[in-house]
Amino acid sequence: MGAGYKMRARYWVLGARCTYIYFMASKKIVTIGNEVLRQKTEDLDPQELQTPEFLQLLDDMIDTMATANGVGLAAPQIGVSKRVFVAETDDGPIALINAHITHYHKKMAKYEEGCLSIPGKFADVWRHREVTVEALTASGEPIQFVAKGFFARVMQHEIDHLDGILYVDRIEEQK
Ligand SMILES: [Zn+2]
Repeated sequence: MGAGYKMRARYWVLGARCTYIYFMASKKIVTIGNEVLRQKTEDLDPQELQTPEFLQLLDDMIDTMATANGVGLAAPQIGVSKRVFVAETDDGPIALINAHITHYHKKMAKYEEGCLSIPGKFADVWRHREVTVEALTASGEPIQFVAKGFFARVMQHEIDHLDGILYVDRIEEQK
């Protein structure tokens, strides 16, 4: 998701990892029109989370998000069709794996959104004010939480990416 917002996450901030030292690499961000953005991702096998390749993917995603000055980035946005995204918080970046929304609060809110895969464009999008999210942390721990306000918006935007949905689709829906 695009830049310009701050949020606070009390949980799941990625600490420094000492096991491996990676050369972090900012990846090219895939833009609208690329088929990978339209694929629905499957849940990951939790076994995969501890592989060097997966840890490298997370690092690359965080680096790519930071370089692009974004607040969220889903794996399909760097061409990897896996069910994982990263998001920026005031406390540092978080990664969520196999995230699904299990409950939508009825109340809606409209706010301006952008997307790193749709450069230079912003539009008002209606989203649920609160959502319940179930996911795994980067270390594979199952979590469930209620996201509110702007954080709820980021969760909906990024989980949409994992289902092949872009915010512009939501605008069409709401017309
Ligand atoms: Zn996006």
